[in-house]
Amino acid sequence: MEITNEAKTYTKGGKPASYIPELALQSVEQFAACIVDQNGNYFEVGNIEAQFTLQSISKVINFIVACEYHGLQFVLDKVDVEPTAPGKPFNPMINAGAITIALMLPGESVKDRVDYVVDFLNRITDSPHQINEAVYRFEIETTHRNRAIAYYLKANDYLLCDVEEAVETYIRLCSLEVSTKDFAKIGLMLAGNGVHPLTNEKLITPKTAKITKALMTTCGLYNASGKYAASIGIPMKSGVSGSVLCTVSNGKVEHLKGKLGIGVYSPGIDDIGNSVAGMKFIEKLSQAYDLSIF
Ligand code: GLN
Repeated sequence: MEITNEAKTYTKGGKPASYIPELALQSVEQFAACIVDQNGNYFEVGNIEAQFTLQSISKVINFIVACEYHGLQFVLDKVDVEPTAPGKPFNPMINAGAITIALMLPGESVKDRVDYVVDFLNRITDSPHQINEAVYRFEIETTHRNRAIAYYLKANDYLLCDVEEAVETYIRLCSLEVSTKDFAKIGLMLAGNGVHPLTNEKLITPKTAKITKALMTTCGLYNASGKYAASIGIPMKSGVSGSVLCTVSNGKVEHLKGKLGIGVYSPGIDDIGNSVAGMKFIEKLSQAYDLSIF
């Protein structure tokens, strides 16, 4: 596919995340993409089973689980939904909000919370997920910024439990391994507003699915969210492993019609933390197949 070949020319345009050795070791020449439509047709590029860590895309999953367990208002009373705003933690798609939400996850321990989220993830992807312990061990020892955020949250009564427990929960879920095929299935479930188009299983409420997509669109790509909302126009969430989760509710052009889930992985990220080749692939796909919601 011409789009794939063009996107692959950008793989060396980024560098793997340097602050986590296991990520820094990844070859930037890796490129995988998986698209699944509402009829179960898959479009595959590279190794769609290749494993990488969820990193910030865990924020999407954790937000969904917290909303489904406690109800949306409970979560929004504690975490804002603005891209930037003073006061309570900004939003679930950036670290302050995500660390706050980590302690809202069901369970009385780090293990319980992580197991709950893994079970939820398994139901969507129909595949097992494990923690990359090497990534976890390194990051938990060096995540000084996240600890500082957590102590700030504690000092301002946004974090009602142990700081270390919040950080450990958050970092363990960042270290969960997934694939672009898994992301395609998650994206398809979101496109179905919580009903999985392939199984018709009601996995989450439409209300949670819709606000999750809104947050991905407004805050999913950090300081490039506005730029990509304009140039691509679909809900996306990126992670520093060089992966992107996308969801399309109404594809209009042959071959990519109706509901779609898209997962992309290419470890070379830009200064903002988004995969260079991954974003180029999605941008060219959106332009060629008119995927934008605008
Ligand atoms: N675990 C990373 C962190 O909290 C995730 C960052 C990311 O994927 N953008 O710093």
